[in-house]
Amino acid sequence: MSGAANLIETPLTKVRDQIARACADAGRDPASVTLVAISKTFGANAIEPVIAEGQRVFGENRVQEAKAKWPSLKERHGGIELHLVGALQSNKAKDAVALFDAIHSLDRPSLAEALAKEISKQGRRPTLFVEVNTGGEAQKSGVLPEETDAFVKACREGYGLQVAGLMCLPPADEPPAPHFALTAKIARRNNLALLSMGMSADFALAIAFGATHVRVGTAIFGERSAAAEIEN
Ligand SMILES: *Cc1c(COP(=O)(O)O)cnc(C)c1O
Repeated sequence: MSGAANLIETPLTKVRDQIARACADAGRDPASVTLVAISKTFGANAIEPVIAEGQRVFGENRVQEAKAKWPSLKERHGGIELHLVGALQSNKAKDAVALFDAIHSLDRPSLAEALAKEISKQGRRPTLFVEVNTGGEAQKSGVLPEETDAFVKACREGYGLQVAGLMCLPPADEPPAPHFALTAKIARRNNLALLSMGMSADFALAIAFGATHVRVGTAIFGERSAAAEIEN
């Protein structure tokens, strides 16, 4: 890359540079990594400058918030791709299929059933990631690692869903590398091409472990207010 745009460093250009460097270090094509800018809690005034810099892929963790924010932003800006990265209640599957281009939190049969129904009804096919609870944390959503093969199979054969990849959210107080490695291993043996892993603190490491989608909020938008914890 070259040209005037590179002369101004912004949080977004810094993240892009770090992704490019991590890809170079891992011998990977930078085009194989999608940056999902996590805009939860931030309003249009914070999001629009990032769109103006060329970012088109955004992530939210709540259906209601995304529904309030994104339809008008999508009207004003073309080519937006919206990802849901937070837990999804089955009764919001309809809204989620209507609004999102990718869902990173498929984690139980009842949700698989609700999504399958809406996908066939609406004729929209969001890219689906099965969320793996690699740390086995009771308070977190996600399928346990040892149950993931069976769940992916059930999604495919029982509900006719096309599962595209796996997502993980490692425990905050542990080194993430083993969690990334485990998620990549489970994806490989299930023929899943996509890996959603890595956040602001560890996306470069996730890329070394094969991440195809990095979910970066704070490094792009700044700190969120304390009230807005990760809900997952
Ligand atoms: C908020 C959130 C992120 C982004 O986290 P940062 O540390 O701000 O980059 C990524 N993934 C999920 C599931 C989130 O809820």
